[in-house]
Amino acid sequence: MAVRPISITGDPVLHHRASEVLDIDDELRTLVADMFETMDAAPGVGLAGPQVGVGLRLFVWSWIDDDGGDQRGVAINPTLWQSPLTIEPLDDEGESEGCLSIPGERFPLRRADSVLLRATDLDGQPFEIEAVGWLARIFQHEYDHLDGVLYADRLEHPFHKAAAKAVKRASWGVPGKTWLPGVDHLDD
Ligand code: ZN
Repeated sequence: MAVRPISITGDPVLHHRASEVLDIDDELRTLVADMFETMDAAPGVGLAGPQVGVGLRLFVWSWIDDDGGDQRGVAINPTLWQSPLTIEPLDDEGESEGCLSIPGERFPLRRADSVLLRATDLDGQPFEIEAVGWLARIFQHEYDHLDGVLYADRLEHPFHKAAAKAVKRASWGVPGKTWLPGVDHLDD
């Protein structure tokens, strides 16, 4: 297992639709193990294939539930059903979201309150999870990555502009930029 470099916004792999996973083989199992290790090292609560430079439709997540249990897993070739968005004003604190591909930044974004995730696990078995709250947010964020969408793409005024400024200030937004958890400390 190895921690892999995380692609930063601007790299084409993050901005294109990822391809279906066709084979669950040793290479894919190694990829998933590396993705868990990379997510934990970052640390983060989710990581999608394109974020480690692999344009395949899969993501891992790690979420500590209210009882302190670590609900982690991998979703291969997922589909996601989302409840409609509510229209109350954004809660800048409670709805603030970040992304390991735009490291160190957070901006508020409205997400669906509940989702239904359907996917395949590493044994090729289908599963489904109904999620609400933060786990639902994680699933929506990671699923977006598989369609080449970053949360910054969804931000509303004035946060969209603020995110674009932050990306420019960091000299991101160009191909080939990565950071390595445990080596680079971009949050400092
Ligand atoms: Zn992300």
